[in-house]
Amino acid sequence: MKCHLCGGRMDSVCTDLPFKLDQHRIVVVKDIPVEQCNSCGEFLIHDPVMENLDSLIDSVDSGVELEVRRFAA
Ligand SMILES: [Zn+2]
Repeated sequence: MKCHLCGGRMDSVCTDLPFKLDQHRIVVVKDIPVEQCNSCGEFLIHDPVMENLDSLIDSVDSGVELEVRRFAA
């Protein structure tokens, strides 16, 4: 798979990403499987992973300002 920005090679890696839910709420999800470009750092999340992330984020307690979760496929 090639990077859509620079044409570099995309590698399958696991990374940690923050998701801002609203002005005061952030969820950090660890060990998310993504494809990352090894020249420019652009990354891409596949649809099934995105769906898992959506449900994980939905399950976060709405009273919490910062939460760290581990991605589980
Ligand atoms: Zn790239």
